Amino acid sequence: LMIGDGLGDSEITIARNYAVGASGRLNIDRVPLTGAVTTHSVEEDEPDTPNYLPDSAPTATAWSTGAKTSNGRISTTPGTDRDLTTLLELAQARGLRVGNVTTSELTDATPAAAMAHISARGCQGPLNMSACAADLKSAGGPGSIAEQAADSGIDVLLGGGRARFDQVIPPGQPNAGRTPLQTADAQGYSVVTDAAGLQAARPGTPLLGLFTAGNMSVDWTGLPAARPASGPQVCQEDQRPADEPSLADMTTRALELLQAPGRGGRKPGFFLQVESASIDKRNHVSQPCEQIGETMQLDEAVGVALDFAEANPDTLVILTGDHAHTSQIVGADQEVPGFASKLTTADGAVMQVSYGTGTTPVGQSHTGSQIRVAAQGPQAANVIGVIDQTDLFRIMRRALRL
Ligand code: MG
Ligand code: ZN
Repeated sequence: LMIGDGLGDSEITIARNYAVGASGRLNIDRVPLTGAVTTHSVEEDEPDTPNYLPDSAPTATAWSTGAKTSNGRISTTPGTDRDLTTLLELAQARGLRVGNVTTSELTDATPAAAMAHISARGCQGPLNMSACAADLKSAGGPGSIAEQAADSGIDVLLGGGRARFDQVIPPGQPNAGRTPLQTADAQGYSVVTDAAGLQAARPGTPLLGLFTAGNMSVDWTGLPAARPASGPQVCQEDQRPADEPSLADMTTRALELLQAPGRGGRKPGFFLQVESASIDKRNHVSQPCEQIGETMQLDEAVGVALDFAEANPDTLVILTGDHAHTSQIVGADQEVPGFASKLTTADGAVMQVSYGTGTTPVGQSHTGSQIRVAAQGPQAANVIGVIDQTDLFRIMRRALRL
């Protein structure tokens, strides 16, 4: 399951125009069967009432559990705060291998919804629990998202967010005085912190890769959108520090580890979620080059997944986003009320991108439009037409026979 956070049709088109031209095609465009996904969440107090502007917590909960929830919730029910079993947990219980890969903090909403249950997405580390008293281990809950990850037994966990795992569990909680990283280590995880460590990792023990303290670095940089428009500009590419793996590197290694023969040479099959997180995060701050670069990181990872599926044709590959976002293509010379930047594309033409959902360049918002889903492999034809995000849970469940 390949996710672009904030990957709407607009973000795909902006990246395509810039990187390969309007008539070019990305790896994202090679995934053959396409449909549209509705992404709304529901109200916490009135779960039958839609909220047309979701965040990444209910959207990831939708494909992870098959159920709608309210903004900010991680795989728990709106209003009643009951845990919802996730696809990853079902796969793990059935003996499949499981992996969770992201360029954000591993405790951020999208990866969290696959593997954790908590009432508020902000409760990422043991010192971030003020909004989640009922989820504390001392209250009989599962603890912060970092503690839940450390306890998960997930075969491959890769991303940023090391600072959450270095927080010291406070007095009165189980494992007080230790960190989630130490508890993960005690429960058998191999921990790696850079690209070389990831390359050296071997199958057989669960792997926790935490490559940065916070979100992982973006790969491209450039001028932010402004009023009047910045540019015309050409983006600076390949800016990621060499000790951080790319999303494609992480995807390649995750597939190798999940597919490695186990006892008796048996390959049990697997579920893997891969997220390019900062398409969203750089959209929020009106940074077109950074947004495009993170879309291209996803595109490279999708290429890895498609190559894997070509060699292993019983693989279902699903590509989608979680919600639409703010960036829009507007006329090259148009004056717009928001913030904008002009980019010189692969066509040699000028594309103006506007950010118009916030009153400051760093305060842009998600949008509520339906977004693309694309798939190939077993069950892929079920994404055709207009589906809801919750349908993805059932499609993947059937494909994995869970
Ligand atoms: Mg995300
Ligand atoms: Zn966002």
